[in-house]
Amino acid sequence: MKCEIIKDLMPLYIDGLASAESVEELQQHLKNCPECRQYLDEMRGKLSEIPKAEIPRKLDFLKKLKRRHRAILVGSGIFLALIFLLIKVFVIGFPVRLEDVQLQTFSDGENFQLTMQLKNGENKALYFVDSRWDSHEIVLRPYWSVRLPFDDASDSCTLGYSLTGEEEMRLTLLFADGEKTFMGDTPLNEEAS
Ligand SMILES: [Zn+2]
Repeated sequence: MKCEIIKDLMPLYIDGLASAESVEELQQHLKNCPECRQYLDEMRGKLSEIPKAEIPRKLDFLKKLKRRHRAILVGSGIFLALIFLLIKVFVIGFPVRLEDVQLQTFSDGENFQLTMQLKNGENKALYFVDSRWDSHEIVLRPYWSVRLPFDDASDSCTLGYSLTGEEEMRLTLLFADGEKTFMGDTPLNEEAS
């Protein structure tokens, strides 16, 4: 429909006297014709109905978008927490407490061997995280984690070193609740941290 015809229809439209068919044609035209929309606004002296109808729809869309966004954020937060928990339990593990292990040492004057076994170690893996391992000092942090079904990790660990080196080896085990030190094959005092 031409703009002139639309403009002629407007007074009838504003007064609600236009036929349903004319109203539909007019509204269709207004959607695509800013000039007629402005004309209608001026004629009414107030906002046209079309932007009014569009604004709530846009707000509604934004709200839905925000709600969706929040759901994604919460979802990914839970997902990340779960991943972290799994990594923590199965990979990183937890520091071992001195009271949770049994230590066995062996020395024949030439070699020293220390075996650490987890008490209640079923389905757990014990391992050492070495903070330092050089020619005369070993510092280790014992950790335990939940053993994965396909993992052949054990609930005990053994380490050994030679006692005939130039310098005596110093071994420090850093537990969650204290540390244990060996000088060569001689246990030094346990120190609570
Ligand atoms: Zn027009």
